[in-house]
Amino acid sequence: MNSAQVLSGLAAGLASGGIEVVDLSVTLSPETPVIRLPDIFAQSPGVSFEAISEYDAPGAGTWYWRTIRMGEHTGTHFDAPVHWTTGKDHAANATDTIAPQRLVGPACVIDKSAEAAINPDTLLTVEDVHAWEAQHGRIPAGAWVLMRTDWSKRDSAEDFLNDSHTPGPDSAVMRFLIEQRDVQGFGVETVGTDAGQAGGFDVPFPCHTLMHGANKFGLASLANLDRLPPTGAIIVAAPLKLKNGSGSPLRVIALVPR
Ligand code: MN
Repeated sequence: MNSAQVLSGLAAGLASGGIEVVDLSVTLSPETPVIRLPDIFAQSPGVSFEAISEYDAPGAGTWYWRTIRMGEHTGTHFDAPVHWTTGKDHAANATDTIAPQRLVGPACVIDKSAEAAINPDTLLTVEDVHAWEAQHGRIPAGAWVLMRTDWSKRDSAEDFLNDSHTPGPDSAVMRFLIEQRDVQGFGVETVGTDAGQAGGFDVPFPCHTLMHGANKFGLASLANLDRLPPTGAIIVAAPLKLKNGSGSPLRVIALVPR
């Protein structure tokens, strides 16, 4: 099949519903939980909206629009390599300079929801990846690896943030996915790509430290990972084109075969 046929097949699948479009994003609002850091660090603000006009401005009574304010790492968001000191010297490492080809790719979804329901500090390990690959095949280069935990189903900010006891990857699995699989990045359902207790790991914050050190990406606060198959979905994760952006809230869209 040539690429024109692939795209016309995609268009037909979208029109027929044979290819489902799944939204992997949360709604941004003043209630959206934001990561809480120890008091010695500057905090990221939550979302605020301010009306510019609400169909009521003098001489401009027919439209509604707002100013938005939030940290770059709020809600469902993209982590660019420049976010971390280990990734700050790569070329094309910020939201405005990353090549667009890198923002679309296959998703490999590893389900750790059963373990996370029992232990909030559950870690993704190399053994988990080997077990997943034995069932679903080798993770291809350029894939997004998504860790499903069903964490996005937690309704309250308190339960979602869980006093920094949240699942994530260990350092060995980050090294493995970078060096042995050349993934595009790593995505999670929790407030940040690293586990809540990752500051104390042998490599502190291994996803941030190692993925960004390898000029790769992160996706945090994803939702609806339970609606994705282990393999076969394509995701589109394009951050706002902020000048030298360390990340950005975004709409992550998955194309899923029925
Ligand atoms: Mn982030």
